[in-house]
Amino acid sequence: MIDLRDILSKIQQEAISIIQEEVPVQFDNSQQTPLGFRWRGNHYEVLKPLLVSKGAGGHLHYLLLTSGGVFCLSLVRDNEDSPFCRSRWVLRYRVKIDDSAGGSGKGASLPDCAGQVTFSLPRGASKLVVPLPLLNVAYYHGHLCPELAVGYRAALVAQRELSLTRESAHKFFVLAENMTSAIDALQYVTGCTIGNQNFFAYDLGKHVYYFGRLAAGFEPQEVLRVALISTAVDLGHVGEIEERIVAGEAGGAEVEKYQRAVDRAVQEILDLPEEKLFSISRVLLRSPWVVSRRRYARCCSCGEVVAVEKSVLGEDGLLCQVCAAKAI
Ligand SMILES: [Zn+2]
Ligand SMILES: [Zn+2]
Repeated sequence: MIDLRDILSKIQQEAISIIQEEVPVQFDNSQQTPLGFRWRGNHYEVLKPLLVSKGAGGHLHYLLLTSGGVFCLSLVRDNEDSPFCRSRWVLRYRVKIDDSAGGSGKGASLPDCAGQVTFSLPRGASKLVVPLPLLNVAYYHGHLCPELAVGYRAALVAQRELSLTRESAHKFFVLAENMTSAIDALQYVTGCTIGNQNFFAYDLGKHVYYFGRLAAGFEPQEVLRVALISTAVDLGHVGEIEERIVAGEAGGAEVEKYQRAVDRAVQEILDLPEEKLFSISRVLLRSPWVVSRRRYARCCSCGEVVAVEKSVLGEDGLLCQVCAAKAI
């Protein structure tokens, strides 16, 4: 087994060999993970990404377990302010494998670490341990919160039960009964998105999710239903602190207490056995009806462009719904 804390403490003690060379990298965009890189004539295959962190300036640092040891590889942007500027990969350092200094006790034997590896967030004293894909989701969403963890785990159920992946997302739809952080995780992991018109959210305040195959016609079909049954997501006990944080009145100790409660809830959601977290069933549901909105017209009242399918026929021509409402 590889012990990430051993490796992190080595990095802290600077038991590393600095490299700082630009290298070519194979990158898996759907998993947002480097698959391998070439360095000094050798190919290094990524066996496990260990940690992703975002440095100052938005650079992404990947700590990677490869066929040739543990490396830190960074995606560096030439211009921090522009998302469209050139990026390059810089191999920053390699963690020294020989453990002659002792200290870590168990030693860092690197091979043979195929199984499930978990990761800790480099966030002060926080001991939160999260899987790497969820870290990517957290970067997309902006933070790691209990609802995000719920959405992530619900997406894993769909991945397993229906083989719903980002590659096959166009064949599926997802329907959510809430509009919380969870739907960011679901969209990110499943690839079904509001923009692609195969993600639908209705805010009924419930963590209930339906996953089904898109089908023509109105015949109800069997879909996967995943419903949260654990209250681990509830942060009511720190609700007052949250209000004070929002109002800008909370002190440092309060913010820390709140963060600890968030971390505990996230960890609990990640650790709970699936049957304690969700009730999973199959139900009959009609495929949602998707209207393609490629035809546009000008509203005859405000002059702004509006999708024809979403406009209303007025006396003088097509009206956008806002103008139609004003006309009543
Ligand atoms: Zn959130
Ligand atoms: Zn209008």
